[in-house]
Amino acid sequence: MANKPKCPYCNKYVEVLDSQKKYKGKTFHSYCYRKLQAEKYSDNLIDIDVKKELCNYIMQLLELEELPVLIQHQIEKFCSMLEINYKDIRDALYYFVEIQENKLNPKYGIGIVPDIIDDSRKFFRELEATHKRLKKQKIYDQNKLVKVKPIDYEDYTNVIDISQL
Ligand SMILES: [Zn+2]
Repeated sequence: MANKPKCPYCNKYVEVLDSQKKYKGKTFHSYCYRKLQAEKYSDNLIDIDVKKELCNYIMQLLELEELPVLIQHQIEKFCSMLEINYKDIRDALYYFVEIQENKLNPKYGIGIVPDIIDDSRKFFRELEATHKRLKKQKIYDQNKLVKVKPIDYEDYTNVIDISQL
């Protein structure tokens, strides 16, 4: 049989008798299509959680019970116009407040974010690199130690404490 459609999800042929679903011009197995949709949905859920977490963090920083409309607008604006995501904003605020020890001025909401985003990204990139390097070193050390004593896995997972870097 020529031109049997291939399911883009599992990359296998969709047979005539298979239960199938057409979506955006492609033919999926029905169950593959459902899986795809479920994955998309859970991605969205993750996004919602990150956003919620960001909102909570801002309220905590400004000691507010709810998020001012100004800040809600700022978040949407940064995300849609500046290609900054919720986690970027959260990181940038953390960088500004905790690392640089500044205070947010409630009058300007989180208007500082675009000005510090590059520095913040750089800071977290370097932090992550250090983190990975330490982890590698630790695994290397552990492997050397394994001959003399068994690895304590309890210890092993708590080896790197970012706050101590
Ligand atoms: Zn499939």
